[in-house]
Amino acid sequence: MKRAPGSRGIVSAAEVFEKYRAHVNPGLAALVKFMGFDAVEESAQGAIVRDTEGNEYIDCLGGFGALSLGHRHPKVVAAVREQLERMPLSSKILLNDRLADLCQRLAEITPGDLQYSFICNSGAEAVEGALKLARLATGRRGIVGAVGGFHGKTMGALSASGRDLYRKPFAPLVPGFSHVPFGDAEALREAVSGDTAAVILEPIQGEAGVVIPADDYLSAAREICSAAGALLVLDEVQTGLGRTGSLFACEHWGVAPDIMTLAKALGGGVMPVGAFVARAELWDAWRVNPLHSSTFGGNPLACAAALAALEVVIEERLPQRARELGQHTLHALGELRQRFPDAVVEVRGRGLLIGVEFAHEDLAGLAIAGLAQRRVIAAYTLNNPRVIRLEPPLVIEEGQLARALSALGEAVEQAVALLADAGPYQDEPL
Ligand code: PLP
Repeated sequence: MKRAPGSRGIVSAAEVFEKYRAHVNPGLAALVKFMGFDAVEESAQGAIVRDTEGNEYIDCLGGFGALSLGHRHPKVVAAVREQLERMPLSSKILLNDRLADLCQRLAEITPGDLQYSFICNSGAEAVEGALKLARLATGRRGIVGAVGGFHGKTMGALSASGRDLYRKPFAPLVPGFSHVPFGDAEALREAVSGDTAAVILEPIQGEAGVVIPADDYLSAAREICSAAGALLVLDEVQTGLGRTGSLFACEHWGVAPDIMTLAKALGGGVMPVGAFVARAELWDAWRVNPLHSSTFGGNPLACAAALAALEVVIEERLPQRARELGQHTLHALGELRQRFPDAVVEVRGRGLLIGVEFAHEDLAGLAIAGLAQRRVIAAYTLNNPRVIRLEPPLVIEEGQLARALSALGEAVEQAVALLADAGPYQDEPL
């Protein structure tokens, strides 16, 4: 059935669901239906998504963190429109001013002496490039990651990630990777050797369930890497650009990496954009052309979106907004935990990257379904399904956030009541 532009209610959810079941992924279709999200999204603005029936949802997932600026931020949309009219894709041979401006801007705003950038299309691709650069620049092979870490699902990024459920079906992964418990500096010290090219860490683990390390962990990791001649790769794909209350999460602890990866919010919620940014001396290794490349990476449309996004993050003081709204949210969630101490095990977060940890996975699933009934979009963290993440656009209005939090309270109450008679729970291993 064809839909007239701007019309509502003509595309039937049942029809789209059937196409998902038959041609996208039947498992995904079933999960979406179970959660109660089997409506068809039609348009969005800020923190609000509308479906084809005209229902409005408060978006507390923010596209897994890609929508820090909200849906369709006018400045990003305008920049992309303007670029679209001039030249959306690059000739790949002539110089491109949008790419040059973005790389310069990233050098200006990233911590330490990060100077060169490669612009790509996603977070996993940024991680792949960072890992390749680390091996090339050091001549070493070893990569140390953290248990529970999430860096994407391509082979290299998956090799760096730390959840067996996603890794095992694809073994053997890339050789040379090992994992240590996140937050344990001594374990990291023992794992790093003369053959370690890089240690890759998220400053705050997102998909592990929003895990914040002790205050001295990141600086210890920095010191361990420097002493061993290994590079420190900080994956700020999810934590970067204001999400945790500072422009980059590593700035909470005054630590600068040798290579930083970015994506998600870098596209301003309009375009897919990723980047890895590195110190100048590492970039010397790239001089042999083209050891690394991407047809679409660094395209002018994406760069225009990223440049506008960086401007908005700074102009609208989104890190500060994340900090303030985050404190308020953590306070409200602390009260929720007091109301349901057996169900809500912990609430934790920094800025607007917040995790609500439940006693077991079913409670989290039911709470998400309860949120769906109340038209709040939320999801669990990929490496820890006991944790619901609250990761709304940083531009979310206070009233919208308050409505979402009150819906969460109702959803938890409902989930607890539903499971009250279910008996003792056996959790699956993560
Ligand atoms: N790195 C981190 C820290 C992430 O959270 C993610 C995605 O959630 C990725 C990398 C992968 O990004 P993408 O899904 O764009 O490949």
